[in-house]
Amino acid sequence: MSRIANPGGSLHNRAVTDAREQVRELAWAAGFDLVGFAPLRRPRGAERLLEWLAAGRQAGMGWLRDQAPDTLAPERLLPGGRSLVMLGLGHSRDAFRLADGSRVARYAAGRDYHNVIGRKLIRLGKQMARAGLVKRWRKFADAGPLLERSHAAEAGLGYESKAANLLHPRFGPWYFLAELLVDAEFEPEAATNAVSCGSCTACIDACPTQAIGPDGVVDARACISYHTIESREPVPRELRAGLGAWVFGCDVCSEVCPWGARAPSLAERFGTHAALAQAHAADWLQLTEPEFAQRFEGSALRRAGAAGLARNAAHALGSLEPDERDRAALLSALDAHASELVRTAAAWALARRYRDDRGTLAALERAAAREPVDAARDDMRENFSSPGVAT
Ligand code: SF4
Ligand code: SF4
Repeated sequence: MSRIANPGGSLHNRAVTDAREQVRELAWAAGFDLVGFAPLRRPRGAERLLEWLAAGRQAGMGWLRDQAPDTLAPERLLPGGRSLVMLGLGHSRDAFRLADGSRVARYAAGRDYHNVIGRKLIRLGKQMARAGLVKRWRKFADAGPLLERSHAAEAGLGYESKAANLLHPRFGPWYFLAELLVDAEFEPEAATNAVSCGSCTACIDACPTQAIGPDGVVDARACISYHTIESREPVPRELRAGLGAWVFGCDVCSEVCPWGARAPSLAERFGTHAALAQAHAADWLQLTEPEFAQRFEGSALRRAGAAGLARNAAHALGSLEPDERDRAALLSALDAHASELVRTAAAWALARRYRDDRGTLAALERAAAREPVDAARDDMRENFSSPGVAT
């Protein structure tokens, strides 16, 4: 069963009784909060994954299908591997907003968790090897082919929720998962039954884009997190209003989850990345690739890419209160951005928020007339196809 680290408390003082206890002690010393063990074998959620893929719910994440052979047989990732050491690390529960009110998912607002957790995994793997607990190990943290939540649930780290989160009694949905594949056998322990969704449907009801089906399965094609992080395509028009002020990721289904309400704040654990402190979404509309790479070095937001983040920023500005600085920044992006993704998003935001301004309307018409990309031009013209605001 997973345990919560209690630095300075009795957990760290008790005698080490077996190999699992030794791993736990080392994991806590490396900074992890939760530790559990699962066999390195086909995940319990395999059939569900196959159904999800067959239904196309992975949207543009084709790599999920490509890597399915490894996902379904994770022992291929470490020949001779026997077990998974599943690890959890709490992150901030506090809502994060940029200076203009636009939003970034909590887990991404600080230092890039891939780097932070990766270092902890290396430390843990080396120490386990030094202690003679394993000979070979391999690390993963929110990247790679493993069906993390399924393995973590089997290891007792939490409950697989209707919102595709893993819920823990103390951390709710606010924690990262990571794992070591190891060549030693660690006997799994009974999973916790302390958490479940029961008849709750709060996340399903609150999702701004209705991405969670009544069956409790998230469809990436409608999910804000997918569209603002992974997708390099225009966001479907029918979803844009639902994006709200989210520039990167979306926390709505976690925010409404009752299991997260009493989680510790942990806002200081990953801090706030310098690129996000005092930033406005409008600042990110015109970054060149080198500027973007430099500014977001060490931030999870790099995943979106310069054009993707600018697209997201434009959409978010279409949901914020009108502001002259934002209007000017959107007009500039509409006029001069190299990516049609961004020009299209800027046009949508301007049409939604500023179409009562005659100068803005004229700029939108000129932009549509000169737009060289057919799909982008069609999209811009749809902003005028119905009375009232763009949707
Ligand atoms: S992350 Fe946002 S859009 Fe995706 S399922 Fe949750 S609430 Fe819906
Ligand atoms: S909001 Fe309710 S249904 Fe959704 S994950 Fe939390 S407990 Fe489960």
